Amino acid sequence: MIVWTHDRWRFPLPAHHRFPLDKYALLRERVVADGTAAPDEVHEAEPVPWDHLTAVHDPELIARIRTGELTVREQRGLGLPWSAALVERGRRSVGGTIEAARLALDRGLGMNLGGGTHHAGRAFARGYCLFNDVAVALERLRAEGSTRRALVVDCDVHQGDGTADLLGPDPDCFTLSLHGARNYPFQRIPSDLDVDLAEGTGDERYLEALGEALDHAIPRAGADLAFYLAGADPWEGDRLGRLALSKPGLLARDELVLDRLRASGAAVCVVLAGGYAEDVRDTVDINAATAAAVARRVHAR
Ligand SMILES: [Zn+2]
Repeated sequence: MIVWTHDRWRFPLPAHHRFPLDKYALLRERVVADGTAAPDEVHEAEPVPWDHLTAVHDPELIARIRTGELTVREQRGLGLPWSAALVERGRRSVGGTIEAARLALDRGLGMNLGGGTHHAGRAFARGYCLFNDVAVALERLRAEGSTRRALVVDCDVHQGDGTADLLGPDPDCFTLSLHGARNYPFQRIPSDLDVDLAEGTGDERYLEALGEALDHAIPRAGADLAFYLAGADPWEGDRLGRLALSKPGLLARDELVLDRLRASGAAVCVVLAGGYAEDVRDTVDINAATAAAVARRVHAR
């Protein structure tokens, strides 16, 4: 299966920072080792052009990001130290989601081994998220005339506030977020459908809630393109997430979302979003299982 990555573009981080910068290279190695993607099927994304970012985000915010002039308050909200390398990597992450979404529209499924930066809104960049890759990709593909109606299924443990800010008001996009009720962000911007799950929610209750949410969202969206944020942070061992899914439970989640979206006729673009296991290899296991589930569906066609 073809996938996109930007794992070689790293950026300076303080020691012991929680952002899992090593995850991306380990995941690239893992999907190749698993046979999910051949080495020449792993593509490196180009940085998204600036004007594609300003088509979605506040141009003044983008200018501050570009020149390193974020305010102290913005810096703190972002949680990552600004550097030119951080910005370059963020642009490549968006580039990967655009390519994966384009491939999805062409072949039914596409995946970026990154992206899902759902806390970035029109005029804010926070929670480790510089740019909202999903909103930018949707805008681009609409501008190219290849899609109109969209659905975002956000299964990261954190609520998708930036996506709700950008796409919630859009009548041709339905935003669904399933997340820990007590997880960040503490001030929410409402999605079209938000499902708050109690602390410690496990596989069975989660999958039931997800099935119901998809029953509601899919017919209302009538989407030709769906984005699936397959966050690894609802895992029971995650340091930030307050839910308690097992690894098999997370795979069942992926399969439920992929199969329901494909059955609806929508093209599906899969992005990673978060994952903060103590041992990064646990996050890589979860992400690699998602990629393998996508690949099985690519090859079954
Ligand atoms: Zn998250």
